[in-house]
Amino acid sequence: MISVEEARDRILTYVAVLEAEEKPLLDALGQVLAEDVYSALDIPPMDNTAMDGYALRAADTRSASRGNPLELRVTGEAAAGYVYPGRVEPGTAVRIMTGAPIPVGADAVVPFEETDEMERKHSGSGHLASVRVYKEVEVGESIRPAGGDVRAGDLVLTQDTVLRPSEIGVLASLGRTSARVIRRPVVAILSTGDELVELGQPLGPGQIYDANSYSLAAAVVRLGAIARPLGIARDTVEALTARIREGLAADILLTSAGVSRGDYDIVKDVLAKEGEIAFWSVAMKPGKPLAFGCFYSGDRRIPHVGLPGNPVSAMVTFEVLVRQAILRMMGKAPTWRPTIKAIALDRIVNRHDPRRYFARCVVTREGERYYARLTGPQGSNILTSMARANALTDIPEGVEVVEQGEEITVMMLDWSYGD
Ligand code: AMP
Ligand code: MG
Repeated sequence: MISVEEARDRILTYVAVLEAEEKPLLDALGQVLAEDVYSALDIPPMDNTAMDGYALRAADTRSASRGNPLELRVTGEAAAGYVYPGRVEPGTAVRIMTGAPIPVGADAVVPFEETDEMERKHSGSGHLASVRVYKEVEVGESIRPAGGDVRAGDLVLTQDTVLRPSEIGVLASLGRTSARVIRRPVVAILSTGDELVELGQPLGPGQIYDANSYSLAAAVVRLGAIARPLGIARDTVEALTARIREGLAADILLTSAGVSRGDYDIVKDVLAKEGEIAFWSVAMKPGKPLAFGCFYSGDRRIPHVGLPGNPVSAMVTFEVLVRQAILRMMGKAPTWRPTIKAIALDRIVNRHDPRRYFARCVVTREGERYYARLTGPQGSNILTSMARANALTDIPEGVEVVEQGEEITVMMLDWSYGD
């Protein structure tokens, strides 16, 4: 039996960052940039106004105030998207809307709030032939200069950046329709067991629905990888071997069940015969029976994680051991989920063979402190305990009892429900 860290490290030695591909912008959300992105443009491309107001010459406004308004002749209007054809001469102003290019001759903008704009609007005096300015403005005031965000030639986003909505927006602002990113890994997922039934089929005596294909595929998709479900393999060496071969086009193969010591637990046999076993059994609870190794297909080596069959064990071992391998393939740093300290609201018992214990819990915050309450029965078959949890405890190997009120480490799966 090896430690969780060792198992994680050994799995990571079998995976590498995948190749790059060119993706349409929106499809690349969550992927990692495989290029440095330089701007061909100044953003904004021209000096423009940050406010709705009047473009004018700052020098004209010297000593203007509410008590001593400055009257300027309004020669026209400038809207966003149009270049104003005229020029702002001394003693004149142009009514201007946010984002509109600053007219030639103007060097500042005074916002409506500092003029008699609103009073006139309310009095319904219609088109403005003149405006009263109540404030002295500085050169450049309320002007967003060309290149104020990005200058042509700037390195805007570097290789290895994860594309979040902000980066997608930045790329769009540069006019980029696509980006070069690390491709998404394809994760083949196979359930094994004679008792399993596909969704949509009626359950016969002794049968259960295949939950693992779905929870694992959902976890894969949520990480940003591509799930390729292979269905259910029956508990014979022939059936399993044939299905596993179908999975070898993927970047990594996950199977669930058939890895413990029962008569029909044949995943290890097939792995040993058709591929290579790297290790079997990890010191974690739930999830001790777990087989890891690889298959070969031509000159490709495909890692295979034989996850335990119990639905909670399958999900927890995915979280703890598979997730980081997928992150690495995607070009992301393989890191643990964020962990925090929380106060145990229950007594947590892990006797006999105290493996590292990932119990399902609900973490809540009160003031500056976090509290962790177990989700109830912790059997590795109780999948609803996963559905109720937003975190897993991380109780070290060898700890048999955590008393109520003690501080523990918890691994956050979700900070809130629903995201
Ligand atoms: P095994 O490792 O094959 O002994 O399976 C352990 C337990 O997990 C058994 O109770 C199985 O019925 C259950 N199990 C295995 N695969 C699945 C699955 N895909 N969905 C739900 N339960 C499963
Ligand atoms: Mg089985």
